[in-house]
Amino acid sequence: MAEKHSDNEWNVPTGSLVNGNWLTSTETVAVLDKYTGKEVARVSAADQHMVSTAVRCAKQAVDRGAPPPHDRGQVLRRAAQLLEEHRSRFAGAMVAEAGFVTADAHGEIDRAMVTLNLSAEEATRLVGDVVPFAASPGAHERIGFTMRFPIGVVCAITPFNSPLNTVLHKVAPAYGAGNAVVLKPSAYTPLTSALLAEILLEAGMPAGFLSVLQGEGDTVGDWLLKEQDIAFYTFTGSTRVGRIIQSAAGLRRTQMELGSIASTIVCADADLDRAIPKIANATFRKAGQVCTSVQRLYVERSIANEVAERLVAAAAGLPAGDPRSPATRVGPLITEDAAIRTEQWIVQARDAGARVLCGGERERSVVQPAVLTNLPEEANAWCKEAFAPLVAIQAFDNFDDALRSANSTPYGLSAGVFTKDINRSLKAAKTLRFGTVQINETSSARSDVMPFGGVKDSGFGKEGPWHAMREMTEERLVIFNP
Ligand code: NAD
Repeated sequence: MAEKHSDNEWNVPTGSLVNGNWLTSTETVAVLDKYTGKEVARVSAADQHMVSTAVRCAKQAVDRGAPPPHDRGQVLRRAAQLLEEHRSRFAGAMVAEAGFVTADAHGEIDRAMVTLNLSAEEATRLVGDVVPFAASPGAHERIGFTMRFPIGVVCAITPFNSPLNTVLHKVAPAYGAGNAVVLKPSAYTPLTSALLAEILLEAGMPAGFLSVLQGEGDTVGDWLLKEQDIAFYTFTGSTRVGRIIQSAAGLRRTQMELGSIASTIVCADADLDRAIPKIANATFRKAGQVCTSVQRLYVERSIANEVAERLVAAAAGLPAGDPRSPATRVGPLITEDAAIRTEQWIVQARDAGARVLCGGERERSVVQPAVLTNLPEEANAWCKEAFAPLVAIQAFDNFDDALRSANSTPYGLSAGVFTKDINRSLKAAKTLRFGTVQINETSSARSDVMPFGGVKDSGFGKEGPWHAMREMTEERLVIFNP
């Protein structure tokens, strides 16, 4: 293996991983601490030759064949143990490069271990189905079943906001199912992926089955879209980039986990002691940079003032600032530009008649958690994805109106409803056109086992190791005709 280059306090390799070697080039990308703005590392971007080599080696690896399922499961399980052993390095890197408060970084690590272990289990029981030929006149004597085979080279392109677990929701099931993965992490958060690659190699993942190509989307990402040996693109990120990847993929299969405006509805019969802390967490965790963060909160009019007051009180208990300070609960946004845009959207909403009940003040990349009401429908904070620590409350008189409004965005990732009324629960489940509808939960509760994905402009295809392995395999029908 070529010598590992590292320039940072976590001793993370700063090259690109190609066929088991950490390679460097002359093009570099600065990794900034998202709170201080200071450079904490400089990664070497992959060049186009490295991209082609990574894909070619991945293709050769899958053509040779992956290790047996049991061995693949062992590698993923061992990686979960190594993640625990290297926890402080991962947490330190994420606090710096993603701006996570320490608790969010550890939450991400805990979930990543679950994702690895679930993928290890599923690797050993990836089986097909028996076809009930008996039901088909004239074919009743046939015996048929399906088998699943690796799809080949999987290209994973990932966002900044969950630099470990979102990456693992692609890499772990892809390898578990016997594929080779070429990963391009976000240029904002390259260190976590490099650390992950190190432990996966240490856990025994063979060279060629994982490459990590560092760099920007419009160069490295674009080169990856030109590589015809890639059989499958699994993408998490904005709807804008999802469209670019989908149009390049042609007839090749894809998994698209895209943008969102997530809604949560609170009915007058809801248990507010239970709902409010969940909503506050789902709105402000990771500074609102979660695809399922509650952006629109519909509240039945009789309790709208109470919910607003209680959310403002909850926000007051979530100090925003330096993610390294133990008191801080809301860290910085990914860039100062993102924070400026959030501040502008809040000012714009206020100028258009909204009430800003709290928050919205900005200092560099930190925005104070904001609670808004009475937003006009055309306000950006209401009708565009905010990805920021703000929630827009709208009172409703009629439950159907709330359902209709929640459905009115181009997106459909996740929605939540708080009510004790079974009829309203069922109506919400039947009416809300989202990939997930959660009753007595916010839009933002994800457990890693569940089938997770959106509809409409939020994309298609399901994550969750069981489901992702079915996405990333080819199904073959075998028939015995007596
Ligand atoms: P983004 O779309 O800007 O970038 C995502 C990745 O795509 C990055 O690695 C980037 O470098 C790459 N990329 C950019 N241009 C490219 C191109 N032309 N070709 C190939 N790759 C390219 O997204 P982001 O700002 O990092 O993340 C935020 C977005 O991700 C939000 O819209 C959020 O809703 C979405 N997201 C969705 C989910 C989900 O499960 N649906 C989860 C997390 C985040």
